Amino acid sequence: MKQECQIVWFKKDLRINDHRPLLEASKTNIPTIPVYFFETDYWKQPFASKRHWYFIHDSLMDLKKEIKSIKSELLLLNSDVINFLELIKHKFELISIYSHEETSNHWTYKRDINVTNWCTKNNVNFLQFPTNGIIRKLNGRNEWSRLRNERMSKNIFQTPKILKKLNHDIKSDILTKENSLFSKDDNFIFQKGGRKEGLILLDKFLNDKLDNYLQNISGPNNSDKYCSRLSPHLTYGTLSVKEIYKKLKDFKYKCEKQGLKYNKRGLSAFSSRLSWRCHFIQKLEDQPSIENKCMHSSYEGMREKKSNTDTLKAWETGFTGFPFVDACMRSLTYNGWITFRMRAMLTSFASYDLWIDWRESGYVLARLFTDYEPGIHYSQLQMQSGVTGINTLRIYNPIKQSIEHDKEGEFIKKWVPELKNVPSMFIHEPWKMNLEEQTKYSCILGKHYPLPIVDHKEAVRMARDKISKVRKDDNYKSKSKNVYNKHGSRKKVKTVRPVRTKKTTDQLVLI
Ligand SMILES: Cc1cc2nc3c(=O)[nH]c(=O)nc-3n(C[C@H](O)[C@H](O)[C@H](O)COP(=O)(O)OP(=O)(O)OC[C@H]3O[C@@H](n4cnc5c(N)ncnc54)[C@H](O)[C@@H]3O)c2cc1C
Repeated sequence: MKQECQIVWFKKDLRINDHRPLLEASKTNIPTIPVYFFETDYWKQPFASKRHWYFIHDSLMDLKKEIKSIKSELLLLNSDVINFLELIKHKFELISIYSHEETSNHWTYKRDINVTNWCTKNNVNFLQFPTNGIIRKLNGRNEWSRLRNERMSKNIFQTPKILKKLNHDIKSDILTKENSLFSKDDNFIFQKGGRKEGLILLDKFLNDKLDNYLQNISGPNNSDKYCSRLSPHLTYGTLSVKEIYKKLKDFKYKCEKQGLKYNKRGLSAFSSRLSWRCHFIQKLEDQPSIENKCMHSSYEGMREKKSNTDTLKAWETGFTGFPFVDACMRSLTYNGWITFRMRAMLTSFASYDLWIDWRESGYVLARLFTDYEPGIHYSQLQMQSGVTGINTLRIYNPIKQSIEHDKEGEFIKKWVPELKNVPSMFIHEPWKMNLEEQTKYSCILGKHYPLPIVDHKEAVRMARDKISKVRKDDNYKSKSKNVYNKHGSRKKVKTVRPVRTKKTTDQLVLI
């Protein structure tokens, strides 16, 4: 008779604490294989990048140690999931697979369906447990907030003391950081992954950064110092949202008990953002097609799916001739992170000024963001590109943003050294320099740095016209209502925002 076994499949939950699949598996007396798959085909998709893999690799190294501490061995495989299951089935009596529910892109969705079908066919239990605040088979948005809060208030799932090991050696593949799938000729920095690092960041955020968080969240100069930088840890699950809430609660309690002052507004803003996180991912869970289709179907086709290659390249490489936009893009390319407002501005510039379809700009950004999380990413891209039909259209003015967030041009000069001698009076709009001034400041436009590739005012005027045309569609309003019913935020969430924006009557805001 074949020996019984079961699998705990790690995906975007690279931890052993607050990990229900692992805990449930440990409660049975069945030998268990904890496994992570490097699925080559996934890494060939247009959203995947070396940045993501580097972070995951660090996290797997921590996870390996954690799993050792519960007397087991993490199996790392360079394999398709079904191939491995076939192999296991051949040698063992596979009883169950334990995993978290995954809300990711179409690729993983399809793969999970294949695994479900394989399990049904082979009489194997596929036990999937909820992830964070995402509710599978949600019965309408009205219920979401209550269900999510209920889940977040539950206790943390304890780390098992031991995971029964399989009495048979299955060899791990060597998954190195460097992989021939990724280019070698880049010179970037990579955010460190791993649970240990995630816990350090959370601690630092609460104890050192919180007081300055809100006033530095928007601009690019200091946001990397004062934002938590926890996003990739949440994306790859080295920390769970629930355990962060628990830490916030403990922190509050400790401060209040000891009569210590803490920044309540900052803490509340941070907590709201964790809730937004779930809110956005829930949209993708409820409607997986938003990865590829506009939430409001009237906007489908408004922008051509394939844009001008030169325009896309200028935006992607930071050579648009708009210093602040270029500085943000180059900084993002180097660091793999930029703050929310600058992500929104980069998207707005691509979508309104350059009229690039959000699917094209979205893949570029997905590869650059270490924290690429499909649910947040595609929802935000659609919002910032004006194709949801339920959100205020926000068109960012790159010059206004530049003056507001980088008055003296320090950030610009750091990332666009071509402009390093240009004085602050011209740094936001170098095209206002005459030839004599350009010569004096060693920056000839069109030679050292490009002239603007677009006229911002004219581009915005054209964008507004095109959007107004779409809004005249016969069923526009009823479609918007449907989108709201499916995805709209119900509760007036008490959020603390750094900057107030006024809504205009036609729901279009120029910022
Ligand atoms: C076009 C666009 C694409 C984006 N794509 C992603 C993405 O792929 N992955 C991602 O994690 N975030 C994305 N964001 C949201 C946001 O910019 C990042 O979550 C944030 O900058 C991460 O930095 P932090 O961890 O220091 O955030 P903090 O300010 O410290 O916030 C704490 C956590 O709250 C969550 N959060 C913060 N802001 C938001 C928000 N606006 N919406 C949803 N959750 C939020 C994140 O999980 C974050 O780690 C995107 C925003 C835009 C405009």
